[in-house]
Amino acid sequence: MSARILVVDDLLPNVKLLEAKLTSEYFDVITAYDGPTALEMIEKQPPDIVLLDVMMPGMDGFEVCRRIKERPEFMYIPVVMITALSDAADRVRGIESGADDFLTKPVNDTALFARVRSLVRLKMVMDEWRLREQTTGQLGALENHTPVIQMSATSAKVLVLDDSTVDAAKVVKTLALDNDEVVVEKTVEATQERALEQSFDLIVVNLNLRSQDALRLCSLLRSMDQTRQIPILLVIEEDQVERLAKGFDLGVNDYLVKPIDQNELLARARTQIRRWRYHVRLRKTYERSIEMALTDSLTGLYNRRYLIAHLDGQIGRVERGGKSLSLIMFDIDFFKRVNDAHGHAVGDAVLQELASRVSGKLRSFDTVARMGGEEFVIVLPDTNVTIACAVAERLRQDIETTGFAAPGLTAKLPITISIGVATALESGDTSEAILKRADDALYRAKAAGRNLAVLGTGAGFETITPDVGKTGTNDAG
Ligand code: GH3
Ligand code: MG
Ligand code: MG
Repeated sequence: MSARILVVDDLLPNVKLLEAKLTSEYFDVITAYDGPTALEMIEKQPPDIVLLDVMMPGMDGFEVCRRIKERPEFMYIPVVMITALSDAADRVRGIESGADDFLTKPVNDTALFARVRSLVRLKMVMDEWRLREQTTGQLGALENHTPVIQMSATSAKVLVLDDSTVDAAKVVKTLALDNDEVVVEKTVEATQERALEQSFDLIVVNLNLRSQDALRLCSLLRSMDQTRQIPILLVIEEDQVERLAKGFDLGVNDYLVKPIDQNELLARARTQIRRWRYHVRLRKTYERSIEMALTDSLTGLYNRRYLIAHLDGQIGRVERGGKSLSLIMFDIDFFKRVNDAHGHAVGDAVLQELASRVSGKLRSFDTVARMGGEEFVIVLPDTNVTIACAVAERLRQDIETTGFAAPGLTAKLPITISIGVATALESGDTSEAILKRADDALYRAKAAGRNLAVLGTGAGFETITPDVGKTGTNDAG
């Protein structure tokens, strides 16, 4: 993990010291001695993280930070403020100006490396998600551009592990100022259970439990998918830097030294909550875009792209395991007439009802896709040719016998479909080949008068007769 770090301080010895320390840990370090130069450097080549002195003549650290954070393209760069003042009010001021973290001079090595690493890690994850968001944005899937510092940080759900009633009460009282809903647990086990049960925006852990190791909770939370990314804020004693470093290694996001300063707790909690919510949003956008890329928005069925990928995998299984696989392709008969006679909205309603009716008649592991227009494909795993023909014929009969309801129409619309059936060969078959056999069979059904199911064997065609629908079984019936 080689990250580029910009160190900004007006005093040469300070810069040199940090540069030496960070270089020895294999970070790539660049330096600036005043705010305007730092901003210029960021402009030219944005670093992965900025270590920023607060007290500088001319433009102070707060101002530099504010200017970085007001630029959409730079606001994602983590800024760590370094101050000689251990004044809590100052720290809060820094965090309000958008700083991601704070270090006090003289800078403690463990704290420095732990925080830098943790922030670099976070930035890399975020960069990755933002890249995906940009891509999906280009696909038109993105509707929310709120940058991280504008995310709401109040009314959060916070979980606290603390076996001291007095300390816990202080945390609860402070977080209540932000309208946070706080749940307190007293043991590692109870906290873990709670974190799995409900979703939280932040977990605050007291490192000094009387009879348990609080870091075990951190490790447990990081080992489980549901809680891996939830921010953890440690509350430590002044002399616990070593254990803190371990905490950072385990994936703790930030810490706070006792006695807890109300404003500092609020500021640090807000930063974590904001980031977490931002992260959740990025992930949702991404998942949604995946969904949009693989499903059809009108019917909710899978689309052609998904079906082909799925079918490739299923054919591979047939080759390896000797299991059977069948495919049903169908197309609405004279659908153009439905649109012409009743309008496009009615046509859409028919497509939707058809999709849900067909899905409802299949097993959970059968896959239905809308291939385009009014053409659909069903992939039936573990289904031999006899059963596939029976399923196809039953579908055809069901559509024929029960009319379709449509908006603005009192009478139900009679709809019929034509079907092509194909079964995978034991070896040497491909998605294209099996789709082609089904398509040819479907074409045959259309030519033979429609409202008909036809099996395509590759060598020829067999018309499926109505009584076939009564034979064979498939689980969902
Ligand atoms: P055939 O029996 O030969 O399949 O005749 P058809 O009229 O169903 O077939 P054709 O391919 O000539 O026309 C298909 C029609 O499906 C044309 C188009 O307007 C309609 N269609 C395709 N996609 C949609 C859609 O998303 N919504 C609606 N309402 N109609 C659609
Ligand atoms: Mg049609
Ligand atoms: Mg058509």
